[in-house]
Amino acid sequence: MRVQLIRVLLMGLFSALALPIIDAVVLGGAIIESVHAGSAKIGGRRMGCRAARVRLSTKMPGLGAAVPGTIFLNPRLLRRYPSVTRRMIFLHECGHQYVGSSETAADCWAVKAAKRQGWLTERGIRTVCRSFAGSRGSGPHPPGPARCSAMLNCYRTTKRPNSRSRSRKR
Ligand SMILES: [Zn+2]
Repeated sequence: MRVQLIRVLLMGLFSALALPIIDAVVLGGAIIESVHAGSAKIGGRRMGCRAARVRLSTKMPGLGAAVPGTIFLNPRLLRRYPSVTRRMIFLHECGHQYVGSSETAADCWAVKAAKRQGWLTERGIRTVCRSFAGSRGSGPHPPGPARCSAMLNCYRTTKRPNSRSRSRKR
C-alpha cells in the first residue's frame, strides 16, 4: 500500500484550501476517541502535544499534517491503521512543531517521545514500518526501508525513563 504518511503544509496554503475541519468524535469513532485542544485519545491513550492544538479533517489528502501551532489528523484514512501507527502519526506531527519540516527528525522525535512514554517497543516500530514498507519515498520522505531503519536507530539510542532513574541511583 502506498502511503503518504505525513505532509507539512504552510499555514497559508492550508487556509487557502479551506479544508473542512471537524472537532467531533463522530468520524474518529474508535480511531480517535476524543479530541481536545491539545490532545487526542488514540487507542485508549491520551496523546498530548503541548505545542499544538489538534484538528480532525476527513478531506485532507494525507493521514496527518502539521502547521505551526496546529496538528491535523484524518480519521477516515487513519482507521486503516493499528493504534500504534495512529499514535506515531500523532507524535510525528507533534514533532514537526519542535524540529521543523525535516521528516527524518520528526520521525526520530516521535520515536523518542513514545519510548519515554513507555509504550513503544521495537515490535511496535516494525508495525509502523509496515505502513510505509513499500514506499519508495515521496517529496521530503525517504524511502520506507531507510525511514524504518532510522526510526529503529533513534529508538535504540533513547533511554527509557526507568533506565535513566536507575542509573541515577547508582
Ligand atoms: Zn512529517
